[in-house]
Amino acid sequence: MDWSRLSRSIDQLLERLFPIQRSLTGGGNRLSMKILQEIIPIKLLEYPAGTKVYDWVIPSEWNIEEAWIKDANGSKLIDFKECNLHVVGYSEPINKTLKFSQLSKHLHRLNENSNAIPYRTTYYEKNWGFCVTGEQYRRIEKANGPLKVFIDSTTDAQGSLTVGELVLPGKSKDEYFVSTYFCHPSMANDNLSGLILTAFLAQIMVNRDVQLCKSWRFIFVPETIGAICYLKHNEASMKAMKGGFVASCCGGPGRLGYKETFMGDHLVDRAIRLVFRDSGIDPIRYRFSPDGSDERQYSSPGFRIPTATISKDKYYEYSEYHTSLDNLDFVNGSQIVEALKLYLGAVEILDKNKTYRSTMQYGEPQLGRRDLYPSIGGGYKVHAGSSNQIEEFQDEVSIISWILFLADGSCDLVTMAERSKISFELIERLSDKLFRHDLLEIM
Ligand code: ZN
Repeated sequence: MDWSRLSRSIDQLLERLFPIQRSLTGGGNRLSMKILQEIIPIKLLEYPAGTKVYDWVIPSEWNIEEAWIKDANGSKLIDFKECNLHVVGYSEPINKTLKFSQLSKHLHRLNENSNAIPYRTTYYEKNWGFCVTGEQYRRIEKANGPLKVFIDSTTDAQGSLTVGELVLPGKSKDEYFVSTYFCHPSMANDNLSGLILTAFLAQIMVNRDVQLCKSWRFIFVPETIGAICYLKHNEASMKAMKGGFVASCCGGPGRLGYKETFMGDHLVDRAIRLVFRDSGIDPIRYRFSPDGSDERQYSSPGFRIPTATISKDKYYEYSEYHTSLDNLDFVNGSQIVEALKLYLGAVEILDKNKTYRSTMQYGEPQLGRRDLYPSIGGGYKVHAGSSNQIEEFQDEVSIISWILFLADGSCDLVTMAERSKISFELIERLSDKLFRHDLLEIM
């Protein structure tokens, strides 16, 4: 894998997707999906506004062309074209002349001194508003009034909500998913990072030479309503899911972390811990809690899909979160690649995991007779976890001994890697070799 080339491709995609206006619905969402279709064959699904999905109703499609605040002389004080965070998401149209005292309750700022524009939405309550920095607020307050306020938005009850889907069938019907959300306008870590990471992860899996062992599904939705909508329309297949990931906030400059599934020790959790261990990275560990992103929907009682997140500057944890400072200075391709390698590693572990049983259950097999005594002391470097910092060289024979010792038919490859402290990759590669020498059979 040419990671530096991939990192440059990610940077280019960040530049293209960043300025696009996105929300729960609308043309910007479709455009974002169409751009991703240049790299992976995503299928676009449209769900009509006004239809019920469990306890929710798909909202009317919202689009916005233009929005500004002008002073009495006609100079623009705020312009949506400069930054799409300036308008509260799902704002109703307005075209009025107002006094500052009338406008101020529709102005949102973080605090007097903040140079960040906050991100605000009003999805399910009819309202309108502008989001501004502390300084912009003062400028509007001091401006020569009355103020002209204009939002050219439309809410279309005949519109629809856009979802992207890519299903990759594997040898087995066992299926896992990676879901991400794309309802946020111009913010890079939340969640262009997750969107782009998921697209390139899918691309790597599409381009594999070896057929996938498990089936994999990639789901691109607006957060919450989109995930609920997808679950409603794919209830049976989603109930059968073995596990999943929600890719969110994975491109910041901070430390890598992961949020556990609601089970905490599910195979998904163990695969993530193994990939961190084998990479020598000690992540921030977040226990499951029913806040956060779409794991709330996927893990809800009717579905209970164990769903985890690998993050790099997790939501709530960085000061630029949900503001205009979550921009392309904060996120870049090489940071996203760091998280992508871990997602890919965890996905590979889940895909390749299987249970073998030794064909020689009574005593050890005689390896020399089978030509399985190569490169003794030749040295594989075995990373055995950053937490205890054990690192040693083990030769192939000792790895084979571990595999054959554990292959009683109850240990899958993940358990073998955990028990032996040998990397999953070596366990998997040498198990496959033993299988080809008829020393292992698949359970
Ligand atoms: Zn968010």
